[in-house]
Parts: sequence; structure tokens; C-alpha cells
Amino acid sequence: MALQGGMAKDAATETLRGGHSGSGLTHEELKHNFSDLHPPLNAHEAAVEADRCYFCHDAPCMTACPTSIDIPLFIRQISTGNPNGAARTIFDQNIMGGMCARVCPTETLCEEVCVREVAEGKPVKIGQLQRYATDHLMESGKHPFNRAKKTGKKVAVVGAGPAGMAAAHRLSMHGHQVTVYESRKKPGGLNEFGIAAYKAVDDFAQKEVEFILGIGGISIKTGKTLGKNLDIDTLRNDHDAVFLGIGLSGVNALGIDGEAGKGVEDAIKYIGALRQASDLSSLPVGQNVVVIGGGMTAIDVAIQSKLLGARDVTIVYRRSQAEMGASAFEQELAKTKGVIIRHNAMPVKIKRKRGQPASIVCERTTIKGGKVVGTGETFELAADSVFKAIGQNFIDVLVGKLALDKGRIVVGADKQTSVKGIWAGGDCIANGKDLTVAAVDDGRRAAESIHAELSA
Ligand code: SF4
Repeated sequence: MALQGGMAKDAATETLRGGHSGSGLTHEELKHNFSDLHPPLNAHEAAVEADRCYFCHDAPCMTACPTSIDIPLFIRQISTGNPNGAARTIFDQNIMGGMCARVCPTETLCEEVCVREVAEGKPVKIGQLQRYATDHLMESGKHPFNRAKKTGKKVAVVGAGPAGMAAAHRLSMHGHQVTVYESRKKPGGLNEFGIAAYKAVDDFAQKEVEFILGIGGISIKTGKTLGKNLDIDTLRNDHDAVFLGIGLSGVNALGIDGEAGKGVEDAIKYIGALRQASDLSSLPVGQNVVVIGGGMTAIDVAIQSKLLGARDVTIVYRRSQAEMGASAFEQELAKTKGVIIRHNAMPVKIKRKRGQPASIVCERTTIKGGKVVGTGETFELAADSVFKAIGQNFIDVLVGKLALDKGRIVVGADKQTSVKGIWAGGDCIANGKDLTVAAVDDGRRAAESIHAELSA
């Protein structure tokens, strides 16, 4: 079994520092590394790109969009010089169209099925055009929608992430009074705390929250946590309806020797700390970073470790490349930043020296009967920092009050839970997809259902 990771075993032992502070990169280098992943299109570039669209009848891009945005319509509006009209078309279906334009894996959604991708291998840049339109309107400072006449109905929304804020906006638009209860110090949820910094620069997540609040009729109360200082029965009694967009607060464990202790961290927690850091040079970063997982979070933490100055970053994923949750684009992006991806391998032990991780032993895997099993062949990677990106789990703060399936809240097509008057959406529901755009769709659908019920 050979120690891998670009250094000999003894040298590795000497230099592994287990999450030391500061990367040694200058502020200028860090600023450059964390600049916008896709710089925005200017007006001319947007017009040229919009002209590539065939404005297809029965547009496949629209069907592939989880929020069913009328893509050919908004692209046509851009091409006729009406970016604000285009933005309104987008926001009507997806009030977080600005963030989704930045973080959606468009290459596996709308752009994957674009007829120009199918015919020429070069789709219309739908995400970039969406960003162009939504930025244009948001920069004007105007809110595109008006509230309906006040209904006198009160709705509680728990969680100020994408699902909760989308629900709050649509409910307010229909004239209901909305109070959003958020456990953190500021709203935004995963948009603020859970995605890579280079995907949403310039405090965009908070700007988007402000934009959403521009409709009026929504108040946010932070520091309110369900199961601690917030009670579902009280919420239900004090409001005409309740929407839960509480996400997933637990983190899955590796369950291997050496996992407990310094230097082994939840990827999502680190990403959150990075997003909130005022000085990136003060962040701890390892020299030999190993990330366990195969989704977007694994890619995000791996790339960001590299950008912060880590020397070697390796992702270890237990299945094949094709089975990774991260899209091909994300995987390629990681590789271009110098991240190594090791497929078909799983961690079996973290070796520590003086309390810090020194290396991680992995076992090669194969699939038997659809399940991942170890082959018995192992290899060892130098690792002073290990990130767990193997998914989050739901903590049942409602202590059995709602029906659950595999630990998540069961909902119907309209996002109604098993308890009358309570709806749910986003990551906390059964079959919830780990995507901002899917959470926004849940929030909007639930809001429409709540509105229908409150109007009956
Ligand atoms: Fe335009 Fe492509 Fe959508 Fe057709 S599939 S409407 S070309 S973006």
C-alpha cells in the first residue's frame, strides 16, 4: 500500500498541519481566485447570444426547467431590447431567477436539451441570458410585482432559504401577511451559506433577499429555531397556514476510524464559514485536502480549498464518474483548477499523528447487486484536512408530528403535509432535490396551494 498525494511519507508527516490558518496567498491572488465564475454578458453580447435562439415551439428547454420559465419568450424579449420584460417573465415563475442563473447546473437542465446543443454541441447560453435580464431589472431598484389587496390572513414561513423566501414572496403577492422565522442571524439559507463564493459574488444572496422583500408584507424574524424557541403548535394556532422550508440540519457521518477530532470537517460548514469570512487569507486551509463525496458540495469545497492555496486536493468518490451527482461541467471545472478526482474508492480509516489527520486509507470499490462493495485493495493519501460531503440529513424537530418517509417530510403534489394547514418544501421533503431551483418551485407551488385554500 503506497502513500500517495505528491509527497513521501516522512515529508508528509512533517508538513501536515491540520487546518492551519492562512494560505500564504496575497489578498490580490485571493481576490482573483474568488472572482465571478462567469462574468456577466454586456448588452451587445446578450443581443448576439439571444439571436442564436430558434424560439422553438414546444421548447424543450422550457420543459427541462424545474420552474417552467418561458425561455423562448424571455430570450425574444431580450432580442427585442426589452430586458426588464424578460426579467419579469423569469421572475413570474421563479423569483430567485437571479441566483438560479448563477448556480443552476444548466448543462444538465435547459442547456442540455437546447436544440442548438443537440445539433451543434453549443447550446444557447440560457443561464447567462437569464442573468443578464434579471441583473438589469434588479439594478433598477424597482420591484416588478404589486401586492394584491390585503386578505387579512397570516402565514408563517419557517426557514428563509430558497423554498421559504419563494413561498413568502408569492403569498405576499396574493395579499397575505407573511412572517418568516429563520434560525440563523441572517436570511438566505443555502444561497447565503451553502454554495461556493465564486458563484455568487458581491453579496448577491443578500441583495436578492432585499429584492424579494421589496414586494412588502413580509417580515423576517431571525434567531428562531423550530424545536428550540419556536413551536409548531403555537405557529399553527397563531397563523392561518404554516410553510416549512427548514432544510437539512444534520450531516451524515463516514463511520470510520479516526473520523472524530480536529481536521475532519463538514464541507457545508466550511463553505458557510468561507462565505461569511471578511478576510479569506485568515481562513484555515490544509496542504493536502481530501474530500469525500461526489455531489456539488464536494466539488465546491474542493475547488475553494484549491483557490485558497491548498497544494493537493483530491476528491474520493465511491462510484464511477458517470454516477457523480456533480455535473460533467462541475467535474471539469474542478479538474481545470487542479483537483484530482478518484472514482470507485471509499475511505476506510483516517490515520492521525499528534491528534491531527496525517493520511487517509481508501479501499477501491466495485458494484455488486447494485451496491458498492470494497475490493480489498487499498491505497493511502496524505491528508491534513478531510471534508465530508456525503449529504445532509433531516433532524425531526417536529418530533413525529408530521408523516416522514426515510426521515423526510411527506408531501402531496401541492406540498401539503400530513397535517392540515401545514405545507413543506425544499430539501426537508421526501424526494426533495438538492437544487435551489427545485426549492424555489416547491415554495411557489405551496404558496399557490395555501392561497387557494385560504381563498376558498
Ligand atoms: Fe432557444 Fe434552445 Fe430553447 Fe430552442 S431549445 S427555444 S433554441 S434556448
